[in-house]
Amino acid sequence: VSIVTGGTYVLNTLRSEMDLARKKTNFVANVSHELKTPLTSIRMFAEMLRERRQPDLNKQDKYLHIMVSETERLTRLINNVLDFSRMEKGNKLYDKKTLNASSICEDLLESQRLRLEQNGFQVNFTGPPAPVYIEGDEESLKQAVLNLLSNAEKYSQNVKKIDIEVSRLEDNIFLTVKDRGIGIEPKFAQKIFKEFFRADESLTSKVRGSGLGLTISKKIINDLGGDILYYPRKGGGSIFQIKLPAKDFS
Ligand code: ADP
Repeated sequence: VSIVTGGTYVLNTLRSEMDLARKKTNFVANVSHELKTPLTSIRMFAEMLRERRQPDLNKQDKYLHIMVSETERLTRLINNVLDFSRMEKGNKLYDKKTLNASSICEDLLESQRLRLEQNGFQVNFTGPPAPVYIEGDEESLKQAVLNLLSNAEKYSQNVKKIDIEVSRLEDNIFLTVKDRGIGIEPKFAQKIFKEFFRADESLTSKVRGSGLGLTISKKIINDLGGDILYYPRKGGGSIFQIKLPAKDFS
């Protein structure tokens, strides 16, 4: 009995060690690829501007906008990796302030709008009638929402439509990102927030990712006293909803 128990234990340990090693290799390859995409785009537009290949001033302005929004994406990717290690050590710090959640989301979407539209997306923002406030860390909140927005972009195929909605219901603020993309198989719905989890793990997968975005978004939102939930969308696609306690001034 002890030989069988011991053998099973060793085999299981070996299997999980191998699984972790494989996940780490995939992680490095995927992160490197993810970093390359915005870098390539920044370089291309910077070279076009340097060589004065585009005389149209409006277009030049567009290129600069896209370069800034790609830089924002790069920062987010690097922050995800840095935050992951901070969170593992338990020393991620938050600089909490009162934030206008709707204007933060709207500005974030506007900063990405041009690049998204350039890539064929139709984007739409719906805000509440009056500003809604939460207590949070601005950079972390932006990172959490940007991770959701980036997923909506990455996992969309033919129907490229993203809606962001900010609303208030009783004492909660909801930040909702909806897409018409590939959706998530019900069997994976509980796993997507786990670190390194990717529904399509193959290195040949066309969509690159680290499997950390949702883990980090969820941890940030939990640390700010809220939660993120996933819902399948009627008619195809995904809905990710951030729920945070509203801050009132009474
Ligand atoms: P990744 O870097 O792989 O995108 P995430 O942690 O952000 O990592 O997401 C984990 C997995 O959840 C993704 O690999 C993908 O399979 C699935 N996923 C996340 N967002 C969406 C979405 N909007 N539509 C479809 N699948 C999604």
